[in-house]
Amino acid sequence: MYNAKAYAAASATSPLASSTIPRRDPTEHDVQIQILFCGICHSDLHTVRNEWASFSPTVYPCTPGHEIVGRVTRVGSAVTKYKAGDLVAVGCMVDSDGTCAECKAGLEQFCPNLTLTYNAPDKHTGRVTYGGYSDSIVVNEHFVLRVPTNLDLAGTAPLLCAGITTYSPLHRWKVTKGQKVGVVGLGGLGHMGVKFAHALGAHVVVFTTSPSKTEDALRLCANEVVVSKNANEMQKHEGSFDFILDTVSANHDINAYLKLLRRDGNLTLVGAPEKPLAVDAFSLLLGRRSLSGSPIGGIPETQEMLDFCAINNITADVEVIPIQKVNEAYERLLKSDVKYRFSIDMASLT
Ligand SMILES: [Zn+2]
Ligand SMILES: [Zn+2]
Repeated sequence: MYNAKAYAAASATSPLASSTIPRRDPTEHDVQIQILFCGICHSDLHTVRNEWASFSPTVYPCTPGHEIVGRVTRVGSAVTKYKAGDLVAVGCMVDSDGTCAECKAGLEQFCPNLTLTYNAPDKHTGRVTYGGYSDSIVVNEHFVLRVPTNLDLAGTAPLLCAGITTYSPLHRWKVTKGQKVGVVGLGGLGHMGVKFAHALGAHVVVFTTSPSKTEDALRLCANEVVVSKNANEMQKHEGSFDFILDTVSANHDINAYLKLLRRDGNLTLVGAPEKPLAVDAFSLLLGRRSLSGSPIGGIPETQEMLDFCAINNITADVEVIPIQKVNEAYERLLKSDVKYRFSIDMASLT
């Protein structure tokens, strides 16, 4: 074991502060990574403040971060995919059993024995896993992704959660050239959804509650912007969408969007509102529409997403911050005061 520099929260009410965390020495299948950038995901804030106590109580000290980009410093003797110096990334998962049907299908995110990147029981240390707000991390090579060299690294970090979360459902529902795709909400997830749907050749319509986001949505290559409070505008789009990606985590009327789908259209939720959403059966019955949810993506699909980003020159729009500003960034995140993701420059952690 060795001590890594990190930022950690000592309790649900403590700010993140400079600290050290124990990391294992690389075993034969492990890759040791010097972390260069780590994105800030809303899940980090929920976990640090123990807001998901009902299903995943936070163990303190807690070091979050699952949008990790870095450079390989050392590899175990049996590692075949990576060597020192390679640019790599780690997302929301760091281990799974590798033997179940989900793992065999490359859908590790559904493995019953999945190990999340932070605040999950760590098989190696007997403690919990610690995330990317740190100078290094040690991860089994299967859960390490290759970062294409043409991508901006600060903007690549958020691809590992916000990116794959939006790419995966677009891929699964086979969004393709000429289709009409809606993206509800223009935040960290939504802005990635717009970029991906546009790159796939879809006609992209952004739904937002704030007219002030119109200009930015168009800059991100949306074809149209609909202010969702405007019932007339909404009505014009009834029955016309092949697919809608709903990224909103605030409570909202899902039926208003289901109605916009054409026959056999699908709406996939990637945001997680606190309260149950009320679904009018007729919103689904008429048009044989479907409603789904989707969490991140498997390892093969995450690599595919990164390669797709390299070809289409896609990264997240980020505001790069030093780690010392992380608590301030959390407060701004709560006010949606970021375009569109914070990326921590880990060189600041000295
Ligand atoms: Zn996340
Ligand atoms: Zn498994």
